[in-house]
Amino acid sequence: MMLDIINPATEEVICQIAEDDAVRVDEVVRKARTAFESWRLTSIPERQATLRKVASLIRSHADELAELETRNTGILLRDAKERYLVRTAANFDFFADYIGQAAGQVYEQHPAYVTTVRREAIGVAGLIAPWNLPLALGSMKIAAAICFGNACVIKPSEIAPLAVIRLVELISTVLPDGLVGIVNGRGHITGAALVDHPLIDLVSFTGGTETGQRIASAAGAKLKPVTMELGGKSANIIFESADFERALDAALVSIYANNGQQCLAGSRILIQDSIADRFIAAFAERARKIRIGSPLDPQTQLGPVASASQRDRMLAFFEQAVAQGAKPLAGGRRAEGFDKGYFVEPLAVEASSNDLGVCQEEIFGPFAVFIRFKDADEAFRLANATEFGLASYVWTQDLSLAMQAQERLEAGVVWINTPVVREMRAPFGGYKQSGIGAEGGAACERFYSREKTITIPRLREGLPIERLGI
Ligand code: NAD
Repeated sequence: MMLDIINPATEEVICQIAEDDAVRVDEVVRKARTAFESWRLTSIPERQATLRKVASLIRSHADELAELETRNTGILLRDAKERYLVRTAANFDFFADYIGQAAGQVYEQHPAYVTTVRREAIGVAGLIAPWNLPLALGSMKIAAAICFGNACVIKPSEIAPLAVIRLVELISTVLPDGLVGIVNGRGHITGAALVDHPLIDLVSFTGGTETGQRIASAAGAKLKPVTMELGGKSANIIFESADFERALDAALVSIYANNGQQCLAGSRILIQDSIADRFIAAFAERARKIRIGSPLDPQTQLGPVASASQRDRMLAFFEQAVAQGAKPLAGGRRAEGFDKGYFVEPLAVEASSNDLGVCQEEIFGPFAVFIRFKDADEAFRLANATEFGLASYVWTQDLSLAMQAQERLEAGVVWINTPVVREMRAPFGGYKQSGIGAEGGAACERFYSREKTITIPRLREGLPIERLGI
């Protein structure tokens, strides 16, 4: 079957790609397994040198990759170039540096023996990625898998695979044949075949929560380890003690950057009563002035969402929320002036209750929901009243309040007085329905390698061994 790949800014069919079935998945996985047999035995300096070559190859093709990413996803070209391609290359350098620091353990309690624990590669990793940041997220998985000596097969999203296809083609020129394989197609066909393949030893998934549950069940049936980076409905809590202007700038960025399609979006803005009227009015005014346009135009601040269904889903949420008593603040319609492309105005509503669908479901688009709170206890209760637990944002100049917040919030990451800052050494992963496991330096080491315990006698003959049968 052929799948149409669409430019969300123009609705043009850029190309078609062939969907890989189980037979093709099998070929790619077997090739990766063969590459693994020798790659797992390469030295750390050899792997470091290869990863650095990959990073520099990405840098020298950054413009081409960024343009492909933008055409296929609607991500602003400026962001693709300045942020996501930088990150894509940096992922390989980061893991090259990381493995240079790798250390094992030595136990010497037993006087006659030395026991060491080393970490070694596991096999072939199945990597399944979403459409919102295909290169930045996909490259993190590839770099983490291969740096520890694994091979991998990536399945990018069927709606936005183009830049990842090109990335794999490029980096394969400096990697052992088949070490990084790629398969394309829809989740229930190609993705499911990958997860089920007996030579796939572990699965790293980023995507929606329901898909994650399905994949974790399939992998669990075969005892394959998984990491699950799933959805979010992250609270952005703004206290009256916040730096008002910085909190306002960040609230807009946290929900409207990357066309609102970020797992860690600050999509539920909890605002303290005493500053709510002023903050909401200022936010809505700025949201209405956000420049919508072609993602290729450097002046654009909001590009199209990824698909027609995403756009329609968002508008339906808006209508439903207003029908349930939410106050419309901005947007609610397709953006004017575009004959083609999945453009919407930035959306915002104020919800009457945190129980509304618009406060509980991940919308995954440029859609902000405000909820008012009286005091810190209420803020923490509302923030935690969701099935998700990916990230939280807290804005206050009161140190003790910030300290309480980081302790009380049920989320894998808490950003205080800042929008997202990604520290690659630290784990990034969700609580509750936002995931299992995490990505980051040591978190990836734990996932992509396993411990082996080796015991050796200190002296040639070791301790006497009972001589059975004599
Ligand atoms: P999705 O769950 O629809 O698809 C993700 C990937 O899974 C795609 O490649 C898809 O083809 C594949 N897939 C679907 N069904 C499958 C199956 N049965 N077996 C194997 N593979 C299958 O997600 P999406 O719509 O592409 O991405 C948006 C979601 O990703 C949002 O929920 C967002 O929050 C989440 N996300 C999470 C993070 C994070 O780090 N936590 C980062 C980015 C995006």
